[in-house]
Amino acid sequence: MGEPAEELYRRALAAADPEGRLPLPPLDEWETFPFEGELRTRALLPPADEPPRHGAGGSECWRCAQGDADAIWSDDHWVVAPLARPSGLPVIVILFPREHCDLDGLPPARQAELGPLLVRVERAVDSVGEIGRVHVCRWGDGSEHLHFWFMARPARMPQLRGSFAAIWDDVLPPLPEERWRANLAAVARTLGGAGGRVHDRGG
Ligand SMILES: [Zn+2]
Repeated sequence: MGEPAEELYRRALAAADPEGRLPLPPLDEWETFPFEGELRTRALLPPADEPPRHGAGGSECWRCAQGDADAIWSDDHWVVAPLARPSGLPVIVILFPREHCDLDGLPPARQAELGPLLVRVERAVDSVGEIGRVHVCRWGDGSEHLHFWFMARPARMPQLRGSFAAIWDDVLPPLPEERWRANLAAVARTLGGAGGRVHDRGG
């Protein structure tokens, strides 16, 4: 049986200082952690209602309204789109089903497509070149419309390994616009080589 939030909170406060701040983990041993210097944990907040997710129930869903408008590749059931602007990592694209659903509501036919598609998008991102690893991530606390992140970590930059790559993405200077567009075009071309539609975004 799951632990109620009140119990978790009580248990955590017992390990926290009087302000509710938990001790720091051994950051000095985390060579991929992007920050150094004086840090402290935030005070742990008490349990609260789950905040609503964007597009909950399919109403006013940003992704549904967007359609192919920002897609670099799509087919009848799936869309691959980038972020709105360049960021620190060489490629970030997001895979969405066209239909509004979360992972637990994905229709069986789409479930069967998902495995091959995850592999296909990962390979397409890797095809850009100079990519050390493609991280495939699904969180889902922000937007209800199912989405998988593909985050490319630059090759031969071992300090950027692991889940902190998502933070390094905000720390590194944004990719030059031209290279960003060229990378996205390469991803779209590779995806299009196995079917679907490539959407030209000027790369
Ligand atoms: Zn939606």
